[in-house]
Amino acid sequence: MDRMKVFRFDESLDVNTATESELGARLERLWDKAPELRPRPEMHDYQLTYPPAVQMEKRDGYRRTPTDEEYLRDAVGAFNAAGYYFHFGFCKYRCRYCFHYELLTRHNDELMSRYVDALSLEMRHVRELTPKLKPALYFLGGGTPTALPVHLLERFLKNLVTHFGPPRTSMSTVEAKPVTASDDKLRALVQAGFRRINFGVQTLDPELYAFHHQKEDMRVALDAIERARKLGFEYINIDIMTGLERQTPESWQKTLTEIERLATSGAVDSVFIYPYHDDPRSGTYGKPGAVPSIVQTAHSDAQARALFTRLGWKELGARFYRAPRHVRREILELAKLRVNPAYGEVLYHGLGNSSFSIGDRATFLNHRDVQDYCAAVEKGGLGIAYWRTLDNAQRATRDVTFDLLYSPFTRVRSRARKYGAETMAHHRKQLERWAELGLGEENWLLGTFSLSPLGKLVHQQLIPQHYLAEDRRELEETMQRRQQEGRRYRGY
Ligand code: SF4
Repeated sequence: MDRMKVFRFDESLDVNTATESELGARLERLWDKAPELRPRPEMHDYQLTYPPAVQMEKRDGYRRTPTDEEYLRDAVGAFNAAGYYFHFGFCKYRCRYCFHYELLTRHNDELMSRYVDALSLEMRHVRELTPKLKPALYFLGGGTPTALPVHLLERFLKNLVTHFGPPRTSMSTVEAKPVTASDDKLRALVQAGFRRINFGVQTLDPELYAFHHQKEDMRVALDAIERARKLGFEYINIDIMTGLERQTPESWQKTLTEIERLATSGAVDSVFIYPYHDDPRSGTYGKPGAVPSIVQTAHSDAQARALFTRLGWKELGARFYRAPRHVRREILELAKLRVNPAYGEVLYHGLGNSSFSIGDRATFLNHRDVQDYCAAVEKGGLGIAYWRTLDNAQRATRDVTFDLLYSPFTRVRSRARKYGAETMAHHRKQLERWAELGLGEENWLLGTFSLSPLGKLVHQQLIPQHYLAEDRRELEETMQRRQQEGRRYRGY
C-alpha cells in the first residue's frame, strides 16, 4: 500500500465503553464527514454475499442453469477444496423476527422425504462431477435441519456420509432450533461426525425470548445447550441479535449477563451478534420506531464487544466472537486440512432449494421453491436456477467484502498480486479513506487492513461502498422495488 498521512478523530474516545449519547455524538460526527455511511432505512439489509443475493432473482439475464462444463470451469475453476451448505427450509414455527422466505412451518412428512431424496440426488451429481474436490467443510442450515423427523435426518446424514464422507473437521456446523433439538436427533448428528452446533436463541432475556418465540420458555434453549454438550458437541455457538423489537437497555443487559455466565461456565464456545434489520417478512416491517434506533443498536453492539474483550475472547470477523480454545482448534484444523476458507480460495456450494453459492468465477442460486428444486434435480439437473459469471474486478470485490465480513483482516497486497494493482485501486482508495476516518488501520508490513471498533459498528455500511458502480446501481434498484412491493416482495 502507498504510504499516506493518516488523520484520526476522537482517538481518546473508547467506543466500546462510551455511553449511548457519547457514541451517538461520535457517529454523528462520522456521518457528517462521510454521509454515505449513514444507515438508510430503505437499504436496511445486511449484505452477506457478493454480488448481493438480493439482486440475482429479479434481474434479467441471470435466470439460467449452467451446463456441467460451465459449472466445472467457472464454479470449480482451479479450486481443490469445497465447503458445502445444505439448506433445510423447515421450522416448527416462525420466530417473530424471522425473515426467511421459503420457510415451511407445517409439518409435511411426504414433502420432507422427497426433499431429503432430492438432496441426495444433487449430492451424487455434484460428487460425480468433482470426484477430486476435497469436501472440507459442511454447514447444515436453513430453516433448521432438526425440524426433520429423526428417521429423515438419519437418512440425510447417511446420504451425506456416502456421497461426501464424514465431516473432516469439528468446525463443520449444524444449525438447530432448541425446541426441535431432541436427544435422538443430537445423537444422530454426533454419530455422523458433527461436533459443532449453533442455536439461534437471539436473546437471553426470558421475557423477550418468549415474545419472539411464541411464548416458549427460555429454559428450552438453555436445556438444549446443556444436552448438546452432554451428547458430544465439543463446540457450541449461539446467535444473538441486537436491535430486536422490544429490546431495551435493561433486556440487553440481561442478555449480556447470561452470555457471560454461559461463556465463563464453558457452556458456549462462540457467539455471533447479528444486527437485526427490518425485512418485508418480519413483524416490524414498515413500522418505524418498532425496533431500537440505529444508535441504540450500535451501543448494544459496542457493549457486547467490551464484554468479550474483558473475557479474552477473540473477534475473528466483525461480531463473530470465539473462546480461545475455539480459535486454537479452528486454526489447527484448517492448517491440518490445508484449506484457506476465504472466498476466492475455496468453492462454497449451497445444496437444496434457495441456496446461494460462491464459485471461482461464478456465483449462483438454486431454485427458490422447494417443489421446483425437487423437480429440477429429479430430472438429473444441478438445482441451479440463477447463474452469473464474474470478471476479475468482481472477483476482487467479492474477496474484499468477504474479508470485511468474516476475517480479522482484509488482504490487499495479495489480492493486488492476484487480480492486478489496477483492479484493486478502487478498494485501496476506499480502505485508505476508512483509515483516515478512524474506521480501521492499514498494516504496511503485511499489506492488510483491519477494522477498528468504530469501523465494526458501521461495517454494514462499508460493504456496499466497495461494490462496483454497476452493482450499486442494481442493488439500489432492487431495494427500491422491494420497498414498493412491501410484503408482496419475495426475494432475499
Ligand atoms: S429458527 Fe431461524 S429459520 Fe426458523 S423460524 Fe426461527 S429465525 Fe426463522
